[in-house]
Amino acid sequence: MTYFFETYGCEMNIAESAAVEQLLIARGWTKSESAQTATLAIINTCSIRETAENRIIGRLGWFNGLKAVRECKNGAKTKMLEEAVEYVKNGPKPLTLVVMGCMAERLLKDFQKNFPFVDYVVGTYAKHHFSEIIEAVEEGRKAFEVDDTENYKFASVSAEPGHFSTFVPIMHGCNNFCTYCIVPYVRGREISRPAGDILKEIDVLGKMNVREITLIGQNVNSYMGAMKEGENPCINFASLLSIVAEHLRQTKSPIKWVRFMSSHPKDFTDDVIDVIAKEDVICRHIHLPVQHGSSRVLKAMNRRYTREHYLDLVKKIKTKIPEVSLTTDIMMGFPGETEEDVELTLDLMRQVKYESAMMYFYNPREGTPASKEKQLPVEVRKERLQRVIDLQIEHTREQMSKRVGKTVRTLVEGVSRDNKMELLGQTERHEKIAFEASSSLIGTFVDVKITQLSGNTFRGEIAN
Ligand code: SF4
Repeated sequence: MTYFFETYGCEMNIAESAAVEQLLIARGWTKSESAQTATLAIINTCSIRETAENRIIGRLGWFNGLKAVRECKNGAKTKMLEEAVEYVKNGPKPLTLVVMGCMAERLLKDFQKNFPFVDYVVGTYAKHHFSEIIEAVEEGRKAFEVDDTENYKFASVSAEPGHFSTFVPIMHGCNNFCTYCIVPYVRGREISRPAGDILKEIDVLGKMNVREITLIGQNVNSYMGAMKEGENPCINFASLLSIVAEHLRQTKSPIKWVRFMSSHPKDFTDDVIDVIAKEDVICRHIHLPVQHGSSRVLKAMNRRYTREHYLDLVKKIKTKIPEVSLTTDIMMGFPGETEEDVELTLDLMRQVKYESAMMYFYNPREGTPASKEKQLPVEVRKERLQRVIDLQIEHTREQMSKRVGKTVRTLVEGVSRDNKMELLGQTERHEKIAFEASSSLIGTFVDVKITQLSGNTFRGEIAN
């Protein structure tokens, strides 16, 4: 039996899809390159923006057509479905369609009502029912209703098959209620995964040839977990990082790099900075979403830190970890933003000099407080975003140019898509680097000398 995945959205969705994929592989299923010939198609959805949901609704229309073809109810309406028509030439081969993720959680019963051709709607709290769903498909049983909105359970392993880098969920949900964000309404309050379970997953990942892990959660800095389920939670994020680093050392794990995301600047404490400075296994790259450079806008966003707090935090990080690379998220055009607020953001960027940034303009999300505010015209939002992008392009170029000539530790990820003679690797600071070397090095760490900058990729040569 074969499965097909379509995953939208953030790292958490990638990890949650991978966890289901691991279940399927363990039961002997194989991956299908197309939905047209798969037994089971799973769409992992994202609700963060309305545009993301609309795109998924569009795709569902296509899946509805595909299901009809697979049940021999219809001819091929599009070229894309011809493969499915060929596949069912000897009779119907029904496709089971599952929708999971944030949109499934947000709409649940409405989803089933509006899209009756979807066999299972699995909210984020109901993922642990996947084994039963897979079993039902294997036995050709009719779909049943999955109804669970209370007990969130972390999957035991969320590694993407065949990847050297993988995500390890350590938290679920968010308590912060930034006024533009729907996540706390969809994913619920924060739950921290027991540290013992995180270590168990890390051991499994080491055996699966993983070399780099990223601890993920909506706000990892507010992690507060116990060693075991049911124990008193007394492990904060700094302690968790120390425990992970010590465990990797003690077990002589092949995992040599640990990253984390997302961080919330209000919860990024001095002890976290100290652990990063002390533990070499924790990468010298911190993604620290600022969102805006004006304290007034940050307050309206309910970010609960000021521009001054953020700049002070950056100063502490750069002092204790001088080789650190900082990246961020910036949102322009928030309701009520003035020209002065834009200037403050550009000024903050000049002070921090981020290596790179995710930049976007504010888009109201129905159901959030900011969507009820008077909105700035879209052209104004776009123009302000463009100014931020232009400045970041300058900074990225400037920061990257300084790296030419340096020798950097690199995780070799695979063969370059553009040039089959070259390998592509990633540095500790999350930079891409291409260099000529034997493919036997894939999955290992090597030292590469950066010889030139080409676009946003470094070129280099293996250092002696
Ligand atoms: S911290 Fe803010 S932006 Fe991030 S998930 Fe929570 S509410 Fe959304």
